[in-house]
Parts: sequence; structure tokens; C-alpha cells
Amino acid sequence: MDERRILVVEDERKIADTLKMGLTEHGFEVEVAYDGKIGHQLFSARGYDLVILDINLPGMNGYDLCKSIRHINEHAVVIMLTSMSTLENKIEAYDAGADDYLVKPFAFRELLLRIGVLLRRALVHTVPVGNILRAADLELNLDTKEVARGGKKISLTAKEFQLLEYLLRNKNRVVSRADLSINVWDADFKSNTNVIDVYISYVRNKVDRDFDHKLIQTHVGMGYILKERAG
Ligand code: CA
Repeated sequence: MDERRILVVEDERKIADTLKMGLTEHGFEVEVAYDGKIGHQLFSARGYDLVILDINLPGMNGYDLCKSIRHINEHAVVIMLTSMSTLENKIEAYDAGADDYLVKPFAFRELLLRIGVLLRRALVHTVPVGNILRAADLELNLDTKEVARGGKKISLTAKEFQLLEYLLRNKNRVVSRADLSINVWDADFKSNTNVIDVYISYVRNKVDRDFDHKLIQTHVGMGYILKERAG
């Protein structure tokens, strides 16, 4: 099975870093955000199987972040961490869409147990539905923000994802650097086309390098094309 991806959003660095270390040791792929807004950006750009979420956070609080995570992907598992254990806090966490709730300080083994149970339950729901752009054996899921080629997961940064999404929406059609700068970057960025070439090469490296059929091709003097058929 692929590594399950966990996002830890926790502003107490000691707790966040300890969680990252412990979970990594148990075979998870873990990323950390020390700020609610950054957590939100990471989740929208990459998609995770599970989020461990503190409630009192700078940038955006855990309840609001949980709601927006639910909005982006209703199947993601969310475990909330808090130092407050009143019934009101728990109700608020579940109302925001949390699947589980742990009061600090908690035993790491208990967290690990709950992660195991929740992920096994969630597995039933992870079959991607709708909202997928495809070309040949490449798939880009707009809901979960996951990309795979030949069934193998590819991890892209937010900008690389946007670039690939645009190429896929326009597959089998040449797109110019001007198209890309307007649609993928901000308009004021148009003079610096070198950045586009650099990003194209990043995406190629991840999407095409290990495959004979190169999907992303250059049309000299015109731009780029994502070609569904080889040749
Ligand atoms: Ca906190």
C-alpha cells in the first residue's frame, strides 16, 4: 500500500516535531504546518489522508480549518488536539466535522491506535469519484488534488499542480507561454517566461521521466502541448 499522508497542524513546535518524528517512524509520510493558514494552503494544494489539528492556532483556528478541510475533501480524516476538555469544546469539534478528539497531554500510542482505526474505516471511501482529468495513464483528481501516472502517486507543488491541470484541460492543443502566464501565473508575471520553462521541466521530471511516452512536448517557438497519444 502507498504511504498514508498525514498533515500535522500544531503551533507548539515541540509537539508538532515529536508527532512528525513518531509518525514517520511508523511509516507515515508527514508534513507539518505551525500556522492554520499554512495548514489550509498545504491541504488545498496536496491533499492528505489524515489531518491532526490543534484548535488554538495562529492564522486560522482549528474549528474553521476543520470546516474548510471538510469542504475540500469530505473523506479526509480529522483528529483534533486540544488542551480544553469541556463538553462544549468537544461538541464544537464534532460540529466542525472532526472524526475524533484527543485532550492534551495524550499518549502517543493512543493517537497511533486511533489513527489506525480511523484510516481503516476511511479506506472504504478512498475510491476516487468524478472530477478527474485524464490523459493516457495520467490522472489528476481535482477533489483530492492527487496526481498519479500508471497508478503511481506523483507529488506536485501547488504551482506544478495548477500547471499540469491547465495542460490537461487543454490536452492535445498547443498552449503558448502567454496562455500559461495568464492562466497559471498572475498577469503581471508575463515578462518572465523563463520561470514557465523551469516549471515545465519540474513537471516533466515528475510526470514523464520514468515513462517512454512523453506526454508533455515542446513546440519550438509556439509553446507546449500535452499529447494523449504517443508520437
Ligand atoms: Ca496551539
